[in-house]
Amino acid sequence: MIRLTSFQSKSVAVFGLGGSGVAAAEALIAGGANVVAWDDNSHAQETARRAGLNVTDLNHADWSGFDSFVVAPGVPLTHPEPHWSVKKAQAAGVEIIGDVELFVRQRAIDCPDAPFIAITGTNGKSTTTALTAHILRALGCQVSMGGNIGKAVLSLEPAADNRIHVVEMSSYQIDLTPTLQPTVGVLLNVTPDHLDRHGTIENYARVKARLVQGAKAACICVDDAFTKDIAETITPPERLYAFTKGKGTSVVPRGYAIGSSLFVHTVKDGIGKSEEIANLDGVAGLRGAHNVENALAAVLAARALADQCARAHPNLAEKLWRPARIADGLKSFPGLAHRLQQIARRERVVFVNDSKATNAESAEKALSSFSGDIYWIAGGRAKEDGIEALTPLFPRISKAYLIGEAADDFSKTLSGRAPFVNAATMDAAVQMAAKEAALSKAKNPVVLLSPACASFDHYRNFEVRGAHFTELVAALSDVEMLGDTT
Ligand code: ADP
Repeated sequence: MIRLTSFQSKSVAVFGLGGSGVAAAEALIAGGANVVAWDDNSHAQETARRAGLNVTDLNHADWSGFDSFVVAPGVPLTHPEPHWSVKKAQAAGVEIIGDVELFVRQRAIDCPDAPFIAITGTNGKSTTTALTAHILRALGCQVSMGGNIGKAVLSLEPAADNRIHVVEMSSYQIDLTPTLQPTVGVLLNVTPDHLDRHGTIENYARVKARLVQGAKAACICVDDAFTKDIAETITPPERLYAFTKGKGTSVVPRGYAIGSSLFVHTVKDGIGKSEEIANLDGVAGLRGAHNVENALAAVLAARALADQCARAHPNLAEKLWRPARIADGLKSFPGLAHRLQQIARRERVVFVNDSKATNAESAEKALSSFSGDIYWIAGGRAKEDGIEALTPLFPRISKAYLIGEAADDFSKTLSGRAPFVNAATMDAAVQMAAKEAALSKAKNPVVLLSPACASFDHYRNFEVRGAHFTELVAALSDVEMLGDTT
């Protein structure tokens, strides 16, 4: 845990007592602050009370006595309208910040040059964060990973010269971190999302931009219009590590891909050199073009950090840029659970859990990652747009096994374009898909759960859905489960 010494004797209100809120309150108390904590949810109040916090209704508090207000990232600041606690803090002139702001302020005191990589983007944040941490560990570095993935940032080890913090940040968290200045900022992509919270796509892009604009080195994938514009705001140009999956770009990229091969371009003494770092063909943890983007991001983050550390931490810098080790790290990345996760093999048939694909856009990424022979389990609670957008990929589908509420709708879209059956339940879908994939003549058939739907018709969330799929696959005869499939 991190002790927040800069808040000693300060009075701090904390609202939102999930994991990160409780960790923030504890870190503040450990540093000597007086903390008043609250949550609208009685279950969260009870958990916090049991953790020993002073849980008091902030509705009736005297807000003029607070120095700071630490709010959970899910609490609306502006849209659709400010939360009542935000209004009270604003009326009393109390600063409104989040847990990552507490972390960066403490880092500025303890160890301002401590290596710190912050990662954001509409899609791919968790994969890139986990991959970056994995590669840095493969390089022999000490890594503390958290934020929007895994542990709350204040539950991590404190900032230190020999420890690299790799922190995933949502747009909400960036909004609450006014002095965010990571050593390396990574921005993957910006597409319309969370507009209910940010009002417009322009506002949303402005929030995302702050993460890289404040960074010493900015790694930006310039493949969409918003990120390309943001890259053009980064000055001087040495700070920018632009990268592209291979499409043409007006910005000179420092990272690019030709097919699945990743290249890094460096310029030394005026001479440019491109170096192939790795080829992702056959790397099960990083299938698909979207993972080429995530992999390039992680590789460039290591490169940018090596450059930034050259003066302050020369030993670390030397450790960081060893392309052969980076390639090993990419190849040994196991992937994240529920995201194109290869969970099992049964003779020629592989089983892939992509339960996180809750819309057609994500399922498109999954279907594009296999050239054919897909035994596709799809359905659940449909999103408005259905699966019409996936039509160009239907020839890759050997058969679709439809489940849940969306089965009827999906069968209309598939009718006459790809073989399908209304399997109704996950259980039946797994049985049928496994049997028919085994009977096929294909070299490597894949049974792919990529639902293109929310899970809520049958499951609490996509994790529970993916776990059920995994359980059913594990129960098949003669199946070989791969790695940690939790
Ligand atoms: P996030 O943490 O941003 O939600 P994840 O790494 O958990 O992202 O990936 C979630 C889903 O987003 C994946 O299953 C995949 O469908 C899609 N995805 C992952 N990386 C990218 C990317 N770079 N670009 C577009 N989509 C992506």
